[in-house]
Amino acid sequence: MLKEGMELIDAHFKDEGISRRDAIKMFGASGAAMLMASGATTEAKASSAVKAKILIVGGGLAGMSTAARFANSLDNPDITVLEPAEHSTSYQPGQTLVGAGVWKNEDTQYNRDDFVPEGVTLIKEKAVEFDPDNNTVKTSGGKTLKYDYLVIAAGLKLDFSKIEGLGITESITSRGDDSAVRKVIGQNGIASIYFANGATDTWTQMQKFIADAKSGKKVKGLFTHPNTPIKCGGAPKKIMYLTDARLREAGARENAELMFLPNGSKMFGVKEYHDAIVNQFEARDMKWNYRHNLVGVDPIKKVATFSRHWKEKGDWDEDLEEYSIVPRSEKVEKEFDFLHITPPMRAAEEIANSPVGSSKGWVPVNKETLQHVKFPNVFALGDIAAVPMGKTGGSARKQYKVVVENVISMMEGKELVSKYAGYTVCPLITSIGTVMLAEFNWTKKPTPSFPLDPTQERWIWWLLKVYALKPMTQYGMLSGRA
Ligand SMILES: Cc1cc2nc3c(=O)[nH]c(=O)nc-3n(C[C@H](O)[C@H](O)[C@H](O)COP(=O)(O)OP(=O)(O)OC[C@H]3O[C@@H](n4cnc5c(N)ncnc54)[C@H](O)[C@@H]3O)c2cc1C
Repeated sequence: MLKEGMELIDAHFKDEGISRRDAIKMFGASGAAMLMASGATTEAKASSAVKAKILIVGGGLAGMSTAARFANSLDNPDITVLEPAEHSTSYQPGQTLVGAGVWKNEDTQYNRDDFVPEGVTLIKEKAVEFDPDNNTVKTSGGKTLKYDYLVIAAGLKLDFSKIEGLGITESITSRGDDSAVRKVIGQNGIASIYFANGATDTWTQMQKFIADAKSGKKVKGLFTHPNTPIKCGGAPKKIMYLTDARLREAGARENAELMFLPNGSKMFGVKEYHDAIVNQFEARDMKWNYRHNLVGVDPIKKVATFSRHWKEKGDWDEDLEEYSIVPRSEKVEKEFDFLHITPPMRAAEEIANSPVGSSKGWVPVNKETLQHVKFPNVFALGDIAAVPMGKTGGSARKQYKVVVENVISMMEGKELVSKYAGYTVCPLITSIGTVMLAEFNWTKKPTPSFPLDPTQERWIWWLLKVYALKPMTQYGMLSGRA
């Protein structure tokens, strides 16, 4: 699959006048160099003979990649990973494609045990208590583990319980037990690609929605984006673009109204991508209404309730010599035939409420070195880290190398020099066959790896998404090399 995709990508770059060598250079010395199938990878730094006990909490994408890179970098590795979920290393970005029937769940599902790096001990349990003053973590099986360095990579929880009327009381992860949620999400036109079975059910519900539209019924599809940070901020829109594409394929688009209802007041934090998305929505007659936070759903009546919010000018403040700003909100009900929910997201309770958590739940770290703000021998990365714009696999791909380099520097008594620059990437799927590759960093400016207009939807980025990113992730990043 990778080879076939690479040949297509190569040929396309040749047409654009970009040689393979230039493409590799432009992607930089990072893991994306693998993209060009050159076999080029970033090897871990020269091996270090220092010895210390490293404990990694969470063996998903970020945690297992970190474990692999430590194992590649240390002569005497003593690394333990705590990970309870059997399919923790699965390819979550593929869930968007599963939701639109492009892939099947099997195409994205990987067994955690196949990705445990040599020399790394896996404990199939959860961390339940943190005592960073004494450098210990307690596990769900009752073990007390001592560490010299702790890396927290426990991802985030999907919290559908914050939405009234669904009858859901427990939070879930994208690749763990979803029984508390699946009985509601995936039925009655309600869908979510954010968990694996939810993605499969999204395709079933989407097909029913399209069949209704094809039969001549006028149907409404709603797509939400909550008021919390989320992983892959593009996914709520990607599934909407794919619904639009599937409706068009079926010749039923004119019978469907599609509406995006995000909590925020922009399509994207980077102006250039925001403007491009607005144009793409207008061209496809996809509607949107900002400042709508989903707060309730009646699954039987098929009504979604939103808190519509805005700000008004209040009284004149004599002391500050300015008008106060008064937040206002009202409840708004909207009927739906298809409702795609992006649930509220948060850190797991056992971490959020522990000494290594924070009032907002995320693990507070220096956004460049990824070192904990209070405990110098604790680091965090991936979705759980309190790093702006960092909740994507693309960010984790940059962050895990920083964590490994900085922990090894500390072990060797050196300064922490490795820094995360805020790079992230969102391959925004805009139809079946096109993707806008939105790359950016903390400057909130586009940072394209190629000299191609980054606001254009391109087939080549579809090839990258469908053929290359999965093997790059599963065999490059999870081996600690790319
Ligand atoms: C629908 C969807 C589309 C996406 N699209 C993209 C995309 O196009 N591009 C992109 O770059 N990213 C995308 N992502 C995001 C990407 O998958 C995540 O950002 C990435 O998986 C984060 O890695 P992580 O290791 O931090 O979290 P995860 O991979 O979720 O792993 C966290 C692990 O921690 C474990 N854990 C939790 N609590 C504990 C505990 N107490 N003790 C021990 N272990 C624990 C969990 O079981 C889990 O396995 C998408 C995600 C989804 C759901």
